[in-house]
Amino acid sequence: MTSPARKIAIVSLLALVAGGAFLLLTTPGRKLQFMIGGGLVNLGYRMQDHLEDFDFAHHEVTPTQVWDEMLEQNRLAAGVRQSFPRTPRHPLVAMVVCMDARLDTNELTGDTRKYYYVIRTAGSVLETKEAEMLELAVHNGVKLIVLTTHSDCAAERAAADPVQRERFPSLARAVAERGMRMRELLERPALAQRIAEGQLLVKHIDIDTMTEKMRPQ
Ligand SMILES: [Zn+2]
Repeated sequence: MTSPARKIAIVSLLALVAGGAFLLLTTPGRKLQFMIGGGLVNLGYRMQDHLEDFDFAHHEVTPTQVWDEMLEQNRLAAGVRQSFPRTPRHPLVAMVVCMDARLDTNELTGDTRKYYYVIRTAGSVLETKEAEMLELAVHNGVKLIVLTTHSDCAAERAAADPVQRERFPSLARAVAERGMRMRELLERPALAQRIAEGQLLVKHIDIDTMTEKMRPQ
C-alpha cells in the first residue's frame, strides 16, 4: 500500500472508531441513536401504511381469512423478533388509553422501548380491576400515571346518543362515570400516599386523535 493510501486508511479507521465510540459511549450519541431508530421505525410505518389491498381489504375478506392473515403476519414478525430480540425494561409509566385503533401508544410517546404499561379500555374508563392493576404497577416501580381521553371518541359518541345509549347501557354508564373512577383511583390510600410523598405523578391529557398530539389538561 502506498503511503497516501495507508494514511487515508488509517484516518478512515480512526474516524470509524471515533464515530462508534461517540454513538455508543456518549449521551448525545445515544440520543442520536434513539432518534435514528425512531426515524427507521417511522420509515417502516410509512412503507406499510399505504398497503391495503393485498391482505385486509375491507369488507371483502371472510373472518377466517383475516385470522389466517393475522397468524401469518405473526409468524413473520415472531421470526424477526427471534433474530433481533428486544430488551425487557421495567416500566416507569402507566398509561390508560381508549381502545380506538387510531391511537398508537408507541407513536404517542415516540418510543418503542418497553418503559410503558398500557391499559386500553373502551373510553379510557377504569374498572376496579384496572385500578388495582395500576396500584400494583406503582408498587413495582411506576412513577408516572397518564390518564387520557381523546377527540372523536366512539364511546363518548355512543354515550351522548339516546339511541346508542339504550343499545349499549353499560358503555354509556361507564363513560358517564369516567371522571369519578379517575378520582377514586387517586384516593386509593397507597397511591395517595405516594403522591403526597412526591414518589408518584398523575397527569391527565387529551389526545388529538388525528395528530396524536398530547394536550395536558
Ligand atoms: Zn375512544
